[in-house]
Amino acid sequence: MASMRWNPTQEVNGREKRLMARLGRTGKLFAFLRLHRHELFDESFQKELERSYRDNGAGKEPVPPGLLAMMVLLQGYRRVSDAEAVELTVVDLRWQLVLGCLGMEEPIVAQGTLFNFRQRMIAENLDRRLLERTVELARSTKAFDWRKLPKDLRVAIDSSPLEGSGRVEDTINLLAHAIRKLLACLAVIVGRSAGDIATAAGAPLFATDQSIKAALDREWSDPDQKAAAVPLLSKQIDTVLAWIREHFAEQAAKPPVSELIDAVQRLRDQNLEPDPSGGGSRIREGVAPDRQVSIQDPEMRHGRKSKSKRFNGYKRHLAADVDTKLILAATVTPANRPEEEAAPALVLDIRAYADRNKIGEIYADRGYINSAAVDETLATGGDVICKPWFANGNRKTFPKSRFVFNIRDRTITCPAGEVEHFVPGTVVEFDPEACSHCMMRSSCTMAGHDAGRTVNIGRDELLQIRLRREIATPKGRERLRKRVMIEHSLAHIGRKQGNRARYTGVRKNTFDVRRAASVVNLETVHRELSKAA
Ligand code: SF4
Repeated sequence: MASMRWNPTQEVNGREKRLMARLGRTGKLFAFLRLHRHELFDESFQKELERSYRDNGAGKEPVPPGLLAMMVLLQGYRRVSDAEAVELTVVDLRWQLVLGCLGMEEPIVAQGTLFNFRQRMIAENLDRRLLERTVELARSTKAFDWRKLPKDLRVAIDSSPLEGSGRVEDTINLLAHAIRKLLACLAVIVGRSAGDIATAAGAPLFATDQSIKAALDREWSDPDQKAAAVPLLSKQIDTVLAWIREHFAEQAAKPPVSELIDAVQRLRDQNLEPDPSGGGSRIREGVAPDRQVSIQDPEMRHGRKSKSKRFNGYKRHLAADVDTKLILAATVTPANRPEEEAAPALVLDIRAYADRNKIGEIYADRGYINSAAVDETLATGGDVICKPWFANGNRKTFPKSRFVFNIRDRTITCPAGEVEHFVPGTVVEFDPEACSHCMMRSSCTMAGHDAGRTVNIGRDELLQIRLRREIATPKGRERLRKRVMIEHSLAHIGRKQGNRARYTGVRKNTFDVRRAASVVNLETVHRELSKAA
Protein backbone atom coordinates (compact mmCIF):
# COMPACT_ATOMS: atom_id res chain seq x y z
CA MET A 1 0.00 0.00 0.00
CA ALA A 2 1.42 3.40 -0.96
CA SER A 3 2.25 5.85 1.80
CA MET A 4 0.28 9.06 2.03
CA ARG A 5 2.08 12.13 0.78
CA TRP A 6 1.96 15.42 2.68
CA ASN A 7 0.93 18.17 0.26
CA PRO A 8 1.07 21.41 2.24
CA THR A 9 -0.24 24.40 0.35
CA GLN A 10 2.18 27.19 -0.52
CA GLU A 11 -0.42 29.93 -0.70
CA VAL A 12 -0.96 31.70 2.62
CA ASN A 13 -4.61 32.46 3.36
CA GLY A 14 -5.96 35.43 5.32
CA ARG A 15 -6.18 33.65 8.65
CA GLU A 16 -2.64 32.33 8.32
CA LYS A 17 -1.38 35.81 7.40
CA ARG A 18 -2.96 37.30 10.51
CA LEU A 19 -1.46 34.57 12.66
CA MET A 20 1.98 34.95 11.11
CA ALA A 21 1.88 38.69 11.72
CA ARG A 22 1.70 37.93 15.43
CA LEU A 23 4.88 35.83 15.25
CA GLY A 24 7.24 38.71 14.63
CA ARG A 25 8.84 38.71 18.08
CA THR A 26 8.45 35.21 19.45
CA GLY A 27 8.15 31.88 17.69
CA LYS A 28 9.52 33.33 14.46
CA LEU A 29 10.52 29.89 13.24
CA PHE A 30 6.84 28.85 13.07
CA ALA A 31 6.22 31.49 10.42
CA PHE A 32 9.42 30.55 8.58
CA LEU A 33 8.46 26.88 8.56
CA ARG A 34 4.98 27.71 7.31
CA LEU A 35 6.50 29.57 4.36
CA HIS A 36 9.20 27.02 3.53
CA ARG A 37 7.67 23.70 4.57
CA HIS A 38 7.03 22.66 0.96
CA GLU A 39 10.71 23.24 0.12
CA LEU A 40 12.10 21.52 3.20
CA PHE A 41 9.84 18.52 2.70
CA ASP A 42 9.92 18.49 -1.05
CA GLU A 43 8.82 15.58 -3.21
CA SER A 44 12.17 13.83 -3.19
CA PHE A 45 12.74 14.07 0.59
CA GLN A 46 9.23 12.85 1.27
CA LYS A 47 9.92 9.85 -0.98
CA GLU A 48 13.01 9.08 1.10
CA LEU A 49 10.96 9.28 4.29
CA GLU A 50 8.32 7.01 2.79
CA ARG A 51 10.95 4.47 1.73
CA SER A 52 11.58 3.72 5.41
CA TYR A 53 8.11 2.18 5.51
CA ARG A 54 8.38 0.18 2.32
CA ASP A 55 11.91 -1.16 2.81
CA ASN A 56 11.23 -2.77 6.14
CA GLY A 57 7.93 -4.24 5.01
CA ALA A 58 5.95 -2.29 7.57
CA GLY A 59 2.42 -1.30 6.73
CA LYS A 60 1.15 2.11 5.82
CA GLU A 61 0.98 4.74 8.52
CA PRO A 62 -2.22 6.81 8.50
CA VAL A 63 -0.14 9.99 8.83
CA PRO A 64 2.23 11.11 6.03
CA PRO A 65 5.91 10.69 7.03
CA GLY A 66 6.63 14.26 5.88
CA LEU A 67 4.09 15.61 8.35
CA LEU A 68 5.54 13.44 11.12
CA ALA A 69 9.06 14.66 10.32
CA MET A 70 7.80 18.25 10.64
CA MET A 71 6.34 17.35 14.04
CA VAL A 72 9.69 15.89 15.07
CA LEU A 73 11.31 19.21 14.15
CA LEU A 74 8.73 21.26 16.06
CA GLN A 75 9.26 18.97 19.03
CA GLY A 76 12.96 19.80 18.95
CA TYR A 77 12.21 23.51 18.56
CA ARG A 78 9.90 23.65 21.58
CA ARG A 79 11.63 20.86 23.59
CA VAL A 80 8.42 19.01 24.37
CA SER A 81 7.59 15.36 25.03
CA ASP A 82 5.68 13.14 22.60
CA ALA A 83 2.50 13.52 24.68
CA GLU A 84 2.82 17.31 24.73
CA ALA A 85 3.57 17.47 21.00
CA VAL A 86 0.37 15.55 20.26
CA GLU A 87 -1.67 17.92 22.45
CA LEU A 88 -0.09 20.98 20.88
CA THR A 89 -1.44 19.95 17.48
CA VAL A 90 -4.87 20.70 18.95
CA VAL A 91 -4.33 23.58 21.36
CA ASP A 92 -1.54 25.62 19.73
CA LEU A 93 -2.45 27.59 16.60
CA ARG A 94 1.24 27.97 15.71
CA TRP A 95 1.66 24.19 15.49
CA GLN A 96 -1.55 23.97 13.48
CA LEU A 97 -0.28 26.71 11.16
CA VAL A 98 2.90 24.80 10.34
CA LEU A 99 1.26 21.39 10.14
CA GLY A 100 -1.57 22.67 7.97
CA CYS A 101 -4.38 21.71 10.32
CA LEU A 102 -5.75 25.07 11.50
CA GLY A 103 -9.03 24.56 13.31
CA MET A 104 -8.60 20.84 13.99
CA GLU A 105 -10.15 19.80 17.28
CA GLU A 106 -8.64 16.32 17.45
CA PRO A 107 -4.93 15.37 17.46
CA ILE A 108 -3.64 14.69 13.96
CA VAL A 109 -1.40 11.90 15.22
CA ALA A 110 -1.31 9.36 18.04
CA GLN A 111 1.58 9.39 20.50
CA GLY A 112 2.58 5.85 19.47
CA THR A 113 2.77 6.88 15.80
CA LEU A 114 5.16 9.70 16.63
CA PHE A 115 7.29 7.33 18.72
CA ASN A 116 7.37 4.71 15.95
CA PHE A 117 8.30 7.31 13.37
CA ARG A 118 11.25 8.48 15.48
CA GLN A 119 12.45 4.88 15.74
CA ARG A 120 12.25 4.59 11.95
CA MET A 121 14.17 7.82 11.46
CA ILE A 122 16.92 6.45 13.70
CA ALA A 123 16.97 3.03 12.03
CA GLU A 124 17.20 4.57 8.53
CA ASN A 125 19.60 7.39 9.49
CA LEU A 126 16.96 9.89 8.37
CA ASP A 127 17.94 12.27 11.16
CA ARG A 128 21.22 12.77 9.28
CA ARG A 129 19.22 13.48 6.12
CA LEU A 130 17.01 15.97 7.96
CA LEU A 131 20.09 17.92 9.00
CA GLU A 132 21.41 17.70 5.44
CA ARG A 133 18.07 19.02 4.12
CA THR A 134 18.41 22.16 6.24
CA VAL A 135 21.75 22.87 4.52
CA GLU A 136 20.16 22.16 1.13
CA LEU A 137 17.36 24.58 2.03
CA ALA A 138 19.95 27.25 2.78
CA ARG A 139 21.18 26.79 -0.76
CA SER A 140 17.83 26.63 -2.52
CA THR A 141 16.48 29.69 -0.69
CA LYS A 142 19.71 31.57 -1.51
CA ALA A 143 20.28 32.40 2.15
CA PHE A 144 23.98 32.45 1.17
CA ASP A 145 25.64 33.22 -2.11
CA TRP A 146 27.08 29.80 -2.75
CA ARG A 147 29.30 31.09 -5.58
CA LYS A 148 31.16 33.36 -3.20
CA LEU A 149 31.92 30.60 -0.72
CA PRO A 150 35.30 28.79 -0.84
CA LYS A 151 35.13 25.72 -3.08
CA ASP A 152 36.47 23.48 -0.34
CA LEU A 153 34.83 23.50 3.06
CA ARG A 154 36.40 25.14 6.07
CA VAL A 155 35.07 23.04 8.93
CA ALA A 156 35.25 23.74 12.66
CA ILE A 157 34.86 20.83 15.08
CA ASP A 158 34.30 20.86 18.82
CA SER A 159 32.31 19.19 21.59
CA SER A 160 30.41 20.02 24.77
CA PRO A 161 29.24 17.87 27.70
CA LEU A 162 25.76 16.37 27.69
CA GLU A 163 24.71 15.10 31.11
CA GLY A 164 23.16 11.64 30.88
CA SER A 165 19.52 11.09 31.81
CA GLY A 166 20.15 7.93 33.85
CA ARG A 167 20.62 7.97 37.60
CA VAL A 168 24.28 7.65 38.65
CA GLU A 169 24.64 5.32 41.62
CA ASP A 170 27.43 4.36 44.00
CA THR A 171 28.86 0.86 43.82
CA ILE A 172 26.54 -0.74 46.37
CA ASN A 173 23.34 0.71 44.90
CA LEU A 174 24.53 0.01 41.35
CA LEU A 175 25.18 -3.69 42.03
CA ALA A 176 21.91 -4.11 43.94
CA HIS A 177 19.99 -2.31 41.16
CA ALA A 178 21.49 -4.67 38.56
CA ILE A 179 20.66 -7.84 40.47
CA ARG A 180 17.12 -6.62 41.21
CA LYS A 181 16.59 -5.93 37.52
CA LEU A 182 17.68 -9.50 36.78
CA LEU A 183 15.36 -10.91 39.43
CA ALA A 184 12.42 -8.82 38.19
CA CYS A 185 12.95 -10.01 34.60
CA LEU A 186 13.21 -13.67 35.59
CA ALA A 187 10.17 -13.31 37.83
CA VAL A 188 8.01 -12.24 34.87
CA ILE A 189 9.32 -15.07 32.69
CA VAL A 190 8.85 -17.88 35.23
CA GLY A 191 5.71 -16.46 36.88
CA ARG A 192 7.10 -16.07 40.40
CA SER A 193 7.82 -13.00 42.46
CA ALA A 194 11.34 -11.56 42.55
CA GLY A 195 11.27 -11.82 46.35
CA ASP A 196 10.43 -15.54 46.14
CA ILE A 197 13.34 -16.20 43.81
CA ALA A 198 15.76 -14.25 46.03
CA THR A 199 14.57 -16.15 49.13
CA ALA A 200 14.82 -19.51 47.35
CA ALA A 201 18.32 -18.58 46.15
CA GLY A 202 19.40 -17.78 49.73
CA ALA A 203 19.85 -14.05 49.14
CA PRO A 204 17.60 -12.31 51.71
CA LEU A 205 19.16 -8.92 50.91
CA PHE A 206 17.15 -8.88 47.68
CA ALA A 207 13.99 -10.53 49.00
CA THR A 208 12.21 -7.33 50.07
CA ASP A 209 11.51 -3.91 48.55
CA GLN A 210 13.82 -2.29 51.12
CA SER A 211 16.69 -0.24 49.70
CA ILE A 212 19.91 -2.22 49.72
CA LYS A 213 21.49 0.13 52.22
CA ALA A 214 18.57 -0.31 54.62
CA ALA A 215 18.71 -4.09 54.11
CA LEU A 216 22.43 -4.12 54.90
CA ASP A 217 21.76 -1.85 57.91
CA ARG A 218 25.19 -0.30 58.45
CA GLU A 219 26.46 3.07 59.65
CA TRP A 220 27.48 4.18 56.14
CA SER A 221 29.62 7.07 57.28
CA ASP A 222 31.90 4.58 59.05
CA PRO A 223 34.44 3.26 56.47
CA ASP A 224 34.96 -0.01 58.42
CA GLN A 225 31.24 -0.78 58.52
CA LYS A 226 30.91 0.08 54.85
CA ALA A 227 33.84 -2.19 53.98
CA ALA A 228 32.32 -5.02 56.02
CA ALA A 229 29.07 -4.81 54.02
CA VAL A 230 30.75 -5.38 50.66
CA PRO A 231 31.70 -9.08 51.11
CA LEU A 232 28.14 -9.86 52.24
CA LEU A 233 26.65 -8.12 49.20
CA SER A 234 29.14 -9.76 46.87
CA LYS A 235 28.46 -13.22 48.33
CA GLN A 236 24.70 -12.88 47.87
CA ILE A 237 25.15 -11.66 44.28
CA ASP A 238 27.25 -14.75 43.52
CA THR A 239 24.67 -16.95 45.25
CA VAL A 240 21.84 -15.53 43.09
CA LEU A 241 23.81 -15.95 39.85
CA ALA A 242 24.76 -19.56 40.68
CA TRP A 243 21.21 -20.43 41.74
CA ILE A 244 19.65 -19.02 38.58
CA ARG A 245 22.14 -20.88 36.38
CA GLU A 246 21.35 -24.12 38.21
CA HIS A 247 17.56 -23.85 38.49
CA PHE A 248 16.70 -21.84 35.37
CA ALA A 249 19.48 -22.97 33.05
CA GLU A 250 17.34 -22.66 29.94
CA GLN A 251 16.26 -19.08 30.67
CA ALA A 252 19.78 -18.15 31.83
CA ALA A 253 21.23 -19.22 28.48
CA LYS A 254 19.26 -16.81 26.32
CA PRO A 255 18.28 -13.11 26.28
CA PRO A 256 17.05 -11.20 28.09
CA VAL A 257 18.15 -13.15 31.20
CA SER A 258 21.61 -14.01 29.81
CA GLU A 259 22.21 -10.32 29.02
CA LEU A 260 21.21 -9.26 32.52
CA ILE A 261 23.47 -11.95 34.04
CA ASP A 262 26.35 -10.66 31.91
CA ALA A 263 25.58 -7.10 33.04
CA VAL A 264 25.69 -8.10 36.74
CA GLN A 265 28.94 -9.99 36.17
CA ARG A 266 30.47 -7.04 34.31
CA LEU A 267 29.45 -4.55 37.01
CA ARG A 268 30.78 -6.88 39.69
CA ASP A 269 34.16 -7.07 37.90
CA GLN A 270 34.27 -3.32 37.32
CA ASN A 271 33.44 -2.39 40.89
CA LEU A 272 34.82 -5.11 43.18
CA GLU A 273 38.18 -6.83 43.56
CA PRO A 274 39.52 -9.55 45.86
CA ASP A 275 40.41 -8.19 49.28
CA PRO A 276 44.15 -8.90 49.77
CA SER A 277 43.54 -9.25 53.53
CA GLY A 278 41.45 -12.35 52.75
CA GLY A 279 38.05 -10.92 53.59
CA GLY A 280 36.33 -11.78 50.29
CA SER A 281 35.67 -8.77 48.05
CA ARG A 282 36.23 -5.08 48.51
CA ILE A 283 35.37 -1.99 46.48
CA ARG A 284 37.95 -1.66 43.74
CA GLU A 285 40.70 0.88 44.21
CA GLY A 286 40.76 3.35 41.30
CA VAL A 287 38.21 3.39 38.50
CA ALA A 288 37.93 0.45 36.10
CA PRO A 289 38.36 1.38 32.43
CA ASP A 290 35.02 2.07 30.74
CA ARG A 291 33.13 1.74 34.04
CA GLN A 292 29.33 1.71 33.70
CA VAL A 293 27.84 4.37 36.00
CA SER A 294 24.10 3.91 35.60
CA ILE A 295 21.70 1.00 35.24
CA GLN A 296 19.00 3.12 33.59
CA ASP A 297 21.41 4.26 30.88
CA PRO A 298 24.18 1.67 30.48
CA GLU A 299 26.00 3.71 27.81
CA MET A 300 26.63 6.76 30.01
CA ARG A 301 30.19 7.21 31.29
CA HIS A 302 32.19 9.48 33.57
CA GLY A 303 33.85 12.32 31.67
CA ARG A 304 35.86 15.41 32.46
CA LYS A 305 35.17 19.03 31.54
CA SER A 306 38.57 19.92 32.97
CA LYS A 307 41.10 18.41 35.37
CA SER A 308 38.88 19.20 38.34
CA LYS A 309 35.34 19.18 36.87
CA ARG A 310 33.66 15.88 36.11
CA PHE A 311 30.34 15.01 34.50
CA ASN A 312 28.40 11.84 33.71
CA GLY A 313 26.91 11.13 30.35
CA TYR A 314 28.02 11.99 26.84
CA LYS A 315 29.90 14.44 24.67
CA ARG A 316 28.04 16.00 21.76
CA HIS A 317 30.26 16.81 18.79
CA LEU A 318 29.49 19.28 16.04
CA ALA A 319 31.13 20.03 12.72
CA ALA A 320 30.12 23.39 11.23
CA ASP A 321 30.91 25.35 8.09
CA VAL A 322 33.06 28.31 9.15
CA ASP A 323 31.77 30.42 6.23
CA THR A 324 28.01 29.88 6.52
CA LYS A 325 27.91 28.86 10.22
CA LEU A 326 25.61 26.00 9.24
CA ILE A 327 26.05 22.80 11.23
CA LEU A 328 26.99 20.06 8.79
CA ALA A 329 27.25 17.04 11.07
CA ALA A 330 26.60 16.08 14.67
CA THR A 331 27.21 13.01 16.75
CA VAL A 332 27.42 11.80 20.35
CA THR A 333 29.99 9.64 22.15
CA PRO A 334 30.15 8.37 25.74
CA ALA A 335 31.82 10.98 27.95
CA ASN A 336 34.95 8.91 28.54
CA ARG A 337 35.86 8.52 24.88
CA PRO A 338 38.55 10.77 23.38
CA GLU A 339 37.44 13.49 20.94
CA GLU A 340 39.43 11.96 18.09
CA GLU A 341 37.03 8.99 18.00
CA ALA A 342 34.13 11.24 16.95
CA ALA A 343 35.90 12.89 14.02
CA PRO A 344 35.58 10.01 11.48
CA ALA A 345 31.77 9.91 11.91
CA LEU A 346 31.53 13.67 11.42
CA VAL A 347 33.71 13.57 8.32
CA LEU A 348 31.75 10.65 6.88
CA ASP A 349 28.52 12.63 7.27
CA ILE A 350 30.07 15.67 5.57
CA ARG A 351 31.23 13.52 2.65
CA ALA A 352 27.66 12.28 2.21
CA TYR A 353 26.57 15.76 1.02
CA ALA A 354 25.83 15.89 -2.69
CA ASP A 355 28.21 18.81 -3.26
CA ARG A 356 30.63 21.06 -1.39
CA ASN A 357 31.70 18.03 0.57
CA LYS A 358 35.48 18.24 0.36
CA ILE A 359 37.21 19.50 3.48
CA GLY A 360 39.95 22.01 2.75
CA GLU A 361 40.60 23.20 6.30
CA ILE A 362 39.79 21.79 9.73
CA TYR A 363 39.62 24.14 12.72
CA ALA A 364 39.74 21.75 15.63
CA ASP A 365 40.29 21.48 19.30
CA ARG A 366 43.54 19.72 20.28
CA GLY A 367 41.57 16.61 21.27
CA TYR A 368 40.80 15.88 17.61
CA ILE A 369 44.34 16.33 16.33
CA ASN A 370 45.24 12.63 16.39
CA SER A 371 42.19 11.53 14.44
CA ALA A 372 42.39 9.77 11.09
CA ALA A 373 40.19 12.58 9.71
CA VAL A 374 42.96 15.12 10.36
CA ASP A 375 45.57 12.85 8.79
CA GLU A 376 43.39 12.39 5.70
CA THR A 377 42.78 16.12 5.36
CA LEU A 378 46.52 16.77 5.49
CA ALA A 379 47.24 13.91 3.09
CA THR A 380 44.82 15.35 0.50
CA GLY A 381 46.44 18.78 0.58
CA GLY A 382 44.15 20.27 3.21
CA ASP A 383 45.15 22.24 6.28
CA VAL A 384 44.58 21.90 10.01
CA ILE A 385 44.31 24.90 12.28
CA CYS A 386 44.60 24.08 15.96
CA LYS A 387 46.31 25.23 19.14
CA PRO A 388 49.60 23.34 19.47
CA TRP A 389 50.70 21.47 22.57
CA PHE A 390 53.28 23.30 24.64
CA ALA A 391 54.94 20.46 26.54
CA ASN A 392 57.44 21.81 29.03
CA GLY A 393 58.21 18.44 30.60
CA ASN A 394 60.52 18.72 33.59
CA ARG A 395 60.40 22.39 34.50
CA LYS A 396 63.88 22.23 36.03
CA THR A 397 65.44 21.57 32.64
CA PHE A 398 65.29 23.28 29.22
CA PRO A 399 61.81 22.92 27.69
CA LYS A 400 61.42 21.45 24.23
CA SER A 401 60.85 24.96 22.88
CA ARG A 402 64.56 25.73 23.53
CA PHE A 403 65.48 23.17 20.85
CA VAL A 404 65.39 24.14 17.20
CA PHE A 405 63.68 21.79 14.77
CA ASN A 406 64.49 21.67 11.08
CA ILE A 407 61.50 20.08 9.41
CA ARG A 408 63.09 19.64 6.00
CA ASP A 409 66.27 17.95 7.26
CA ARG A 410 64.48 16.35 10.23
CA THR A 411 67.11 17.55 12.69
CA ILE A 412 66.91 18.91 16.20
CA THR A 413 69.52 21.33 17.54
CA CYS A 414 70.07 21.77 21.29
CA PRO A 415 70.82 25.13 23.00
CA ALA A 416 74.56 24.27 22.86
CA GLY A 417 74.41 23.68 19.12
CA GLU A 418 74.56 19.86 19.11
CA VAL A 419 72.56 18.38 16.23
CA GLU A 420 70.73 15.06 16.08
CA HIS A 421 68.40 13.52 13.48
CA PHE A 422 64.87 12.67 14.59
CA VAL A 423 62.09 10.33 13.54
CA PRO A 424 58.47 11.24 14.54
CA GLY A 425 57.14 9.00 17.30
CA THR A 426 60.57 8.22 18.79
CA VAL A 427 62.89 9.58 21.51
CA VAL A 428 66.07 11.42 20.52
CA GLU A 429 69.09 11.12 22.80
CA PHE A 430 71.90 13.66 22.43
CA ASP A 431 75.45 12.37 22.43
CA PRO A 432 76.28 11.45 26.08
CA GLU A 433 79.89 12.47 25.50
CA ALA A 434 78.89 15.97 24.33
CA CYS A 435 76.40 16.38 27.18
CA SER A 436 78.91 15.28 29.82
CA HIS A 437 81.25 18.15 28.87
CA CYS A 438 78.51 20.71 28.26
CA MET A 439 78.49 23.90 30.38
CA MET A 440 74.69 23.94 30.28
CA ARG A 441 74.25 20.38 31.44
CA SER A 442 72.81 21.25 34.88
CA SER A 443 70.08 23.35 33.18
CA CYS A 444 69.40 20.79 30.47
CA THR A 445 69.24 17.28 31.87
CA MET A 446 69.08 15.29 35.07
CA ALA A 447 70.26 12.11 33.32
CA GLY A 448 73.22 10.15 34.69
CA HIS A 449 76.74 11.00 33.41
CA ASP A 450 76.74 8.14 30.94
CA ALA A 451 73.51 9.38 29.30
CA GLY A 452 72.63 12.39 27.17
CA ARG A 453 69.58 14.67 27.20
CA THR A 454 66.52 13.00 25.70
CA VAL A 455 63.64 14.68 23.83
CA ASN A 456 60.36 12.95 23.04
CA ILE A 457 59.35 13.44 19.42
CA GLY A 458 55.58 13.10 18.99
CA ARG A 459 53.96 11.13 16.19
CA ASP A 460 52.57 14.46 14.92
CA GLU A 461 55.69 16.46 15.79
CA LEU A 462 56.00 18.01 12.34
CA LEU A 463 52.42 19.27 12.53
CA GLN A 464 52.99 20.55 16.07
CA ILE A 465 56.10 22.45 14.98
CA ARG A 466 54.13 24.08 12.19
CA LEU A 467 51.26 24.96 14.55
CA ARG A 468 53.69 26.47 17.07
CA ARG A 469 55.20 28.62 14.35
CA GLU A 470 51.78 29.73 13.16
CA ILE A 471 50.49 30.72 16.58
CA ALA A 472 53.58 32.86 17.04
CA THR A 473 52.40 35.18 14.24
CA PRO A 474 49.45 37.66 14.29
CA LYS A 475 48.10 36.11 11.08
CA GLY A 476 48.26 32.63 12.58
CA ARG A 477 46.47 33.78 15.73
CA GLU A 478 43.80 35.50 13.67
CA ARG A 479 43.24 32.30 11.70
CA LEU A 480 42.94 30.33 14.91
CA ARG A 481 40.25 32.70 16.19
CA LYS A 482 37.90 31.54 13.41
CA ARG A 483 37.36 28.43 15.49
CA VAL A 484 35.32 30.51 17.96
CA MET A 485 32.24 30.14 15.74
CA ILE A 486 31.92 26.47 16.70
CA GLU A 487 31.70 27.48 20.36
CA HIS A 488 28.76 29.71 19.43
CA SER A 489 27.15 26.78 17.59
CA LEU A 490 27.56 24.60 20.68
CA ALA A 491 25.99 27.32 22.81
CA HIS A 492 23.00 27.52 20.42
CA ILE A 493 22.61 23.75 20.55
CA GLY A 494 22.82 23.87 24.35
CA ARG A 495 19.96 26.37 24.43
CA LYS A 496 17.85 24.30 22.03
CA GLN A 497 18.55 20.87 23.44
CA GLY A 498 19.40 21.68 27.06
CA ASN A 499 22.47 20.26 28.73
CA ARG A 500 20.78 17.11 29.94
CA ALA A 501 20.15 14.20 27.58
CA ARG A 502 16.52 13.64 26.65
CA TYR A 503 17.06 9.97 25.81
CA THR A 504 19.22 7.05 26.90
CA GLY A 505 22.03 5.67 24.76
CA VAL A 506 24.36 7.06 22.13
CA ARG A 507 22.18 6.62 19.07
CA LYS A 508 19.00 8.17 20.41
CA ASN A 509 20.94 11.12 21.76
CA THR A 510 22.69 11.50 18.41
CA PHE A 511 19.20 11.75 16.92
CA ASP A 512 18.37 14.49 19.43
CA VAL A 513 21.50 16.52 18.78
CA ARG A 514 20.99 16.22 15.00
CA ARG A 515 17.42 17.44 15.44
CA ALA A 516 18.60 20.39 17.56
CA ALA A 517 21.26 21.12 14.91
CA SER A 518 18.54 21.09 12.22
CA VAL A 519 16.53 23.67 14.20
CA VAL A 520 19.62 25.85 14.73
CA ASN A 521 20.35 25.69 10.97
CA LEU A 522 16.78 26.67 10.10
CA GLU A 523 17.10 29.66 12.42
CA THR A 524 20.36 30.58 10.68
CA VAL A 525 18.70 30.38 7.26
CA HIS A 526 15.78 32.46 8.52
CA ARG A 527 18.13 35.09 9.95
CA GLU A 528 20.15 35.31 6.73
CA LEU A 529 17.01 35.64 4.60
CA SER A 530 15.62 38.31 6.93
CA LYS A 531 18.89 40.24 6.66
CA ALA A 532 18.76 40.08 2.87
CA ALA A 533 15.08 41.13 2.72
S1 SF4 B 1 73.41 19.03 27.81
FE1 SF4 B 1 73.55 18.05 25.84
S2 SF4 B 1 71.62 18.50 24.86
FE2 SF4 B 1 71.76 19.84 26.63
S3 SF4 B 1 72.62 21.72 25.79
FE3 SF4 B 1 74.31 20.51 26.49
S4 SF4 B 1 74.99 19.33 24.74
FE4 SF4 B 1 72.98 20.12 24.29
